[in-house]
Amino acid sequence: MVETVRPIPSTWCPGCGDFGVLASVKKAAGELGVPTDQLVLVGGIGCSGGIHNFLDVNGIHALHGRLLAQAVGVKLANPELTVIAAGGDGDGYAIGMGHFIHAFKKNASILYIVMNNETYGLTKGQASPTSQLGFEGNIEHPFDAVLTALSIPVPNFIARTFSGDPKQMTQILVEALRFNRENRGFAFVEDLSPCVTYNDTFKEWRAKVQDISKLPGYDPTDRARTFQLCLDTIDQGKIPIGVMHRPRGGRGEPDSLELKLLPDRVGPAAADIALETNRPAYDKLLKAIG
Ligand code: SF4
Repeated sequence: MVETVRPIPSTWCPGCGDFGVLASVKKAAGELGVPTDQLVLVGGIGCSGGIHNFLDVNGIHALHGRLLAQAVGVKLANPELTVIAAGGDGDGYAIGMGHFIHAFKKNASILYIVMNNETYGLTKGQASPTSQLGFEGNIEHPFDAVLTALSIPVPNFIARTFSGDPKQMTQILVEALRFNRENRGFAFVEDLSPCVTYNDTFKEWRAKVQDISKLPGYDPTDRARTFQLCLDTIDQGKIPIGVMHRPRGGRGEPDSLELKLLPDRVGPAAADIALETNRPAYDKLLKAIG
C-alpha cells in the first residue's frame, strides 16, 4: 500500500450537506475495494471542492471551473486510476459550464459529483446558476443540470441524490463508480447538498424530493421518458432524484474516451520514457523540430 497525503479535519460548517457526500464517497470506494492510492479526487473551487483534503486519497485542487479538464487529463494519463471530480454548482454550472457540457460528449470514465446548494456558500451566499427566483435578489430562472444532461445523447450514467438520504446516495455512487471502473464512460451525479449557513433547504428539500424510480413508467434506459417524468415532477412542485439514465450494456464497441484513445489501456504515466530504450524516437523527434 502506498501512503498518500494525510487527510485533515473538515473545515465545513457543522451540518453542511457536503458531509453526506464525503461519507458516501468513502463508503462507495470502500465497498468497491478501490485502494486509496488508486483513487484520485479532483476538487473544484468552493466549499465542496475541499473534499479531497478530508479523505485519504490522491487529491488535486483544480482551477476555478476547470476540474473536469484536469480529471479527464488524469484519466488519460493513467486509465487504471479511479477518478472523481467534485465541486459545487457555482464552479460547475457558471465558469465551468463549457467543460460541463463537453464532459458528456467526451465520455471519459470519470465520476463528476456536483454538490448543489443553490448558492455560492464560500463567498457568503450570493445567487448561483441554480438559485431560485428571488433568492438574494436573483432575477434569473434556475438552471437544471439533470435535464441538460438528459438532453445530450451519449451513453453516460446520470443521477441525482439528496444529502438527506445517504443510503440512496451511497448505492448510486457505487453504481456510478462501477460504471467508470468498467470503462463504460462518464458518470454525472448531482447531489442536493444544502448550505445550512446561507441557504438551509434541508427541510424544504426533504418534503419535495421524489424518487423517480417509484413513478409509473420509469425506465432509466429511456432518455425521453425520463425527461418527461422529470418535467412532470417539477410541474408538481417536486424535485426528481434517483438514477436518471443507465445506458444499456453490451452495445458492442466501447464508447469511453480512454478506450478509444488508449485501447491497450496504457497511458503515458505508465509508459517507458527511459532515454536508452527510446533513443531512436527521441532522435527522430529532435531532428523533426530542428
Ligand atoms: Fe457548507 Fe455553506 Fe458552510 Fe460552505 S458555507 S461549508 S456550503 S454550510
